[in-house]
Amino acid sequence: MTSLSDLPIRDDLRGLTPYGAPQAHVRVELNVNENTHPVPQQVIAEIMSRIAQALTTINRYPDREFTELRASLAQYLGHGLEIENIWAANGSNEVIQHVLQAFGGPGRSVLAFPPTYSMHPIIAAATGTQWLTAERDEGFYISPETAVAAIRAHTPDVTFFCAPNNPTGTPVSLETITAAYDATKGIVFVDEAYVEFAPTSHGTALSLLQGRPRLIVSRTMSKAFAFAGARVGYLAADPAVVDALRLVRLPYHLSALTQAAAIGALAHTPAMLAMVDDIKTQRDRLVHELAVLGFTPYESSANFVLFGNVADPHAVFEKLLSQGIIIRDIWMPHHLRVTAGTQAETTEFLTAIAALDAAQR
Ligand code: PMP
Repeated sequence: MTSLSDLPIRDDLRGLTPYGAPQAHVRVELNVNENTHPVPQQVIAEIMSRIAQALTTINRYPDREFTELRASLAQYLGHGLEIENIWAANGSNEVIQHVLQAFGGPGRSVLAFPPTYSMHPIIAAATGTQWLTAERDEGFYISPETAVAAIRAHTPDVTFFCAPNNPTGTPVSLETITAAYDATKGIVFVDEAYVEFAPTSHGTALSLLQGRPRLIVSRTMSKAFAFAGARVGYLAADPAVVDALRLVRLPYHLSALTQAAAIGALAHTPAMLAMVDDIKTQRDRLVHELAVLGFTPYESSANFVLFGNVADPHAVFEKLLSQGIIIRDIWMPHHLRVTAGTQAETTEFLTAIAALDAAQR
């Protein structure tokens, strides 16, 4: 049998592992931070009719500039953003890839603060961008001083912040982002995939965009919008950044069906975001109940909770999976991550983990 190493593959890809979150379809799926509430029926009806309309011209390439979708996204984001400030792609993973294709690449570097989103280093590797890391402060926070010291030490071409951070749920203050921006001549990229679950008092890096042309803020419809299967991620930045991304995207990268579906969903933003408060309640319940059970959960501004003091994370993961409940083993010693589900799913998880005998957990 041919193996990867037999192929004339790029030397820098040899030995790497692809993204591999297990995709088991079980009763309770709390492993990849999806919104576990389905899209409301009335929104499905609207999306269906928009897709039907798009199908009447599907023999033609889609709008390469996805102008109507960008207008809908600009309207959703507010902050005075216009169509020219918006870019989108098939999930924010592709948005991140576009950013590193344009601003990273061979001979360039990206600085990040692990533990952080596992795709960030994978996209860095795939684009040939050197992955540099710096330590976080206590409790996974990044103070302005810590960010500035790391940037001075590494002089990266791109600096990544994940706010709130996956897998820890930790916010990143706007002071840290502005300090980082002032300390670098490179791009500052803020991944706000989970920001809709954060307290509004934390603010958003969108409010910092004015006058900062090297700042990029990315979002996704996969989480709060319950639209992970549609693959729609987007960013806001200076129009010149958007021009740079046009150089690396493939033409027509967003299908007409994707555009139609996303525009339909955005036309019903309040209905699509209706479950966010419920999810936040379940997240806070997870933090409270996991502490009562003797674990050490971290405060989270996202739709998931990282918890420590797990004696054997792999064993707990397997035990729950055998009962039809999947959570995330992030290969962090003594830690696991669980997504906040519906009230019933969250109850199932808490009941099952409470029932494990003390030695197992
Ligand atoms: N950023 C972060 C921090 C994430 O956790 C995820 C998904 N887990 C993404 C981006 C990518 O999401 P998508 O490609 O579905 O937009």
